[in-house]
Amino acid sequence: MLKLDFHPSGRHFLQIPGPSPVPDRILRAMSLPTIDHRGPEFGALGLELLDKIRRVFKTENPVIIYPASGTGAWEAALANTLSPGDRVLMFETGHFATLWHKMARRLGVEPEFLGLPGYEGWRHGVQADMIEARLREDSAQEIKAVCVVHNETSTGVTSDIAAVRRAMDAAGHPALLLVDTISGLASADYRHDEWGVDVTISGSQKGLMLPPGISFNAISDKAIEASRHNRMPKSFWAWDEILEANRNGYWPYTPSTNLLYGLNEALDMLLEEGLDHVFARHQRWAAGVRTAVQAWGLEIQCQDPAVYSPVLTGVVMPEGVDADAVRKIIYERFDLSLGTGLGKAKGKMFRIGHLGDCNDLTLIATLGGCEAGMKLAGVPLAGSGVTAALDYFAQHPLDAK
Ligand SMILES: *Cc1c(COP(=O)(O)O)cnc(C)c1O
Repeated sequence: MLKLDFHPSGRHFLQIPGPSPVPDRILRAMSLPTIDHRGPEFGALGLELLDKIRRVFKTENPVIIYPASGTGAWEAALANTLSPGDRVLMFETGHFATLWHKMARRLGVEPEFLGLPGYEGWRHGVQADMIEARLREDSAQEIKAVCVVHNETSTGVTSDIAAVRRAMDAAGHPALLLVDTISGLASADYRHDEWGVDVTISGSQKGLMLPPGISFNAISDKAIEASRHNRMPKSFWAWDEILEANRNGYWPYTPSTNLLYGLNEALDMLLEEGLDHVFARHQRWAAGVRTAVQAWGLEIQCQDPAVYSPVLTGVVMPEGVDADAVRKIIYERFDLSLGTGLGKAKGKMFRIGHLGDCNDLTLIATLGGCEAGMKLAGVPLAGSGVTAALDYFAQHPLDAK
């Protein structure tokens, strides 16, 4: 029974693909007193974290931080680079790509939505060859930007951004490359500079292990140049005044001081561990979770093993089973939150998050909750996913050479 006035015993299992569990070390950092955001102490903090955050995006260029959810940073990316009526090419990988496309329309740009037919696009990644073919047709170079989602959180697909860059170069097209890695950053490998991305959009509450509330634009010189001449109205989102204030570690308005304490702590944790180790951890957890899904005899939402997400796994329910009814049983009986099927995937699947601050045993417990809940819901299972994942984790120690 769900009672909102009562807090269940033990820890809640927050296994949705964001917000992800916030480590105690970050919560403690955030509990410090709020300071004067124009004082010297704040300026020093600002300079430190603006420097460190660039290492997570793998860029030498500035990273803008907004007191907003990821959606705000999506808008910022479009508002700083495009003008009303500009054509942009977007790719339908799932619900988040669809929402970004809707936003582009609302902002008055003319998005074209490429994708595989029917539901296929929601089970595969970005098809770089389709982007290349479309750009080659655009001899007048009317397309001003290509917008893709790196880690499609609604499906569990991590697209190959380097391949998109190669496709754009092969077509010899000058469009900007805008990439949403709101849920990928700090869990899946990401390289803003190396992949030639012009604006990378991210958020706090997924791989960065923070509560919701801040978001990011990593920007290229070409994107900054575009922001000087584009004609979409922008004020709060405008990069120029933020970049100016950031030179001394400040913002033009009140930043989210305590979330920035948390960000500084999260960056220390990630950089002390080393990003390669962080990515390997997530790849291994994802492989363990997929082993469980296969042992259950169920399908994984992503149908292309080359683009399985290290962040989350979509578990497809057999025909006739309502995935949300299964989720509800799991939530009520085991205090475990799983991601719902979004948009076209509604009712067809649920999503297991394995991003941010997990470990083998929190994931085994999560899989235990899934397995027991599916049995209660009458979902026929071929075998035990929990046992399969335990064996996988035992046989694949993280630091094995
Ligand atoms: C979570 C998410 C968003 C939206 O971010 P909000 O913080 O909810 O505004 C957009 N894109 C992707 C890929 C996401 O995972």
